[in-house]
Amino acid sequence: MAKHITLIGGGLVGALLAQQLAGRGFAVDVFEKRPDPRIAGFTGGRSINLALAERGLQALREAGLADDVLQRAVMMRGRMVHTRDGRSGLQRYGVDDSEVIWSVSRGALNMLLLDAAEAAGVNFHFGQSLASADFDQRRMRLVDELGVSRELDAPVVIGADGAGSALRAAMNAYAPLGERVESLGHGYKELEIPPAGGLSADLVGRSGGHDQFALEPHALHIWPRGGYMCIALPNTEGSFTVTLFLPAHGPHPSFDTLGSAGTARAFFEEDFPDLLPLIPDFASDYDGHPVGTLSTLYLDRWHLDGRALLVGDAAHAIVPFHGQGMNCGFEDTVVLASLLAQSPDDTAGVFAEFQRIRQPNSDAIAAMALENYVEMRDSVADPHYLAKRALGAL
Ligand code: FAD
Repeated sequence: MAKHITLIGGGLVGALLAQQLAGRGFAVDVFEKRPDPRIAGFTGGRSINLALAERGLQALREAGLADDVLQRAVMMRGRMVHTRDGRSGLQRYGVDDSEVIWSVSRGALNMLLLDAAEAAGVNFHFGQSLASADFDQRRMRLVDELGVSRELDAPVVIGADGAGSALRAAMNAYAPLGERVESLGHGYKELEIPPAGGLSADLVGRSGGHDQFALEPHALHIWPRGGYMCIALPNTEGSFTVTLFLPAHGPHPSFDTLGSAGTARAFFEEDFPDLLPLIPDFASDYDGHPVGTLSTLYLDRWHLDGRALLVGDAAHAIVPFHGQGMNCGFEDTVVLASLLAQSPDDTAGVFAEFQRIRQPNSDAIAAMALENYVEMRDSVADPHYLAKRALGAL
């Protein structure tokens, strides 16, 4: 009989892991808190689009899904840096298009991964939230959208339930995991540049001949302003998702001092004068979208012997400035599925080996992501930095 694995969370990492485990002959059940996004619409709540890089793309290649994903992605050749005086310049990631990253919609990608996992034989249970776990009895309790709870056997459970993981909380209560959450102290808010057709004609024309887009589509746009910044990633239908990163509290400018859209508009007029006219629904975007928080999660232990394991953000949530959280989680899935396929009956050994292999990598990317915030919001506009890049030193 196929070895059974219970997964908590059918987000990006959970869906890809489920597809790979089912493809290797495991019987996989996934319990996902939200309703099925393919029926109810996607309600991810944060970062509408993401940068997919080689690390994550390689995992998708191994899962046989890379071509499907790339068909729904926009290539980004480098960083387009917009200075305060309205000039812009592209800093390429590589000498040619063999070194690029891709902008993908979180919702479209999640739905593609759910379809692929289902086609591989995975059973999804939507609207089912993990409420508690009894690791001695190897059982867990789930609550549905109406608040009705039920208990199930779950001898081997893997948590892909994100940065606020309920499985992690249950594991930590049973045997402390050495959890540390370091808040960045900066938050983010998302705004939207619509496709060029939705903007007045005099604002369009900076897209390098791509008439559907208000800006050059094949770039990750950055407006670096020292202690804070805006970025924008393209979407396939011609819009861009803009993210403002700013201190959460403290002296101006911070999300505290900006308050509502009125003050925020004055701040944008001063600091992002070329960007503001491209966001026609600025007031409703600003007031309607929440301020997201940013933290790095460190754990001493990712597993409870062979009974429970954490992957993706549940194990190693990082700040988004290297665009590597999902990519790193995708890499987790390849390593874990391959280890489990080799030793399906030794989950304790596999989980320990998984942490041994993956933790040094996730620690390294966590540190690089923190460093890259300073680089993106500050150094990329520094003349010394640009001179070094021109000489090939960066
Ligand atoms: P999640 O995507 O959080 O998915 C967790 C899933 O578990 C969700 O579906 C949730 O509904 C479900 N769930 C939660 N609790 C329960 C429960 N109790 N029971 C059942 N189900 C539950 N990464 C990149 O690689 N590139 C980027 O450009 C990038 N940009 C980012 C920008 C921002 C602003 C942010 C905040 C993050 C960004 N990331 C990026 C990081 C990326 O979003 C995460 O690393 C990625 O989503 C992690 O996937 P995951 O499946 O582990 O967790």
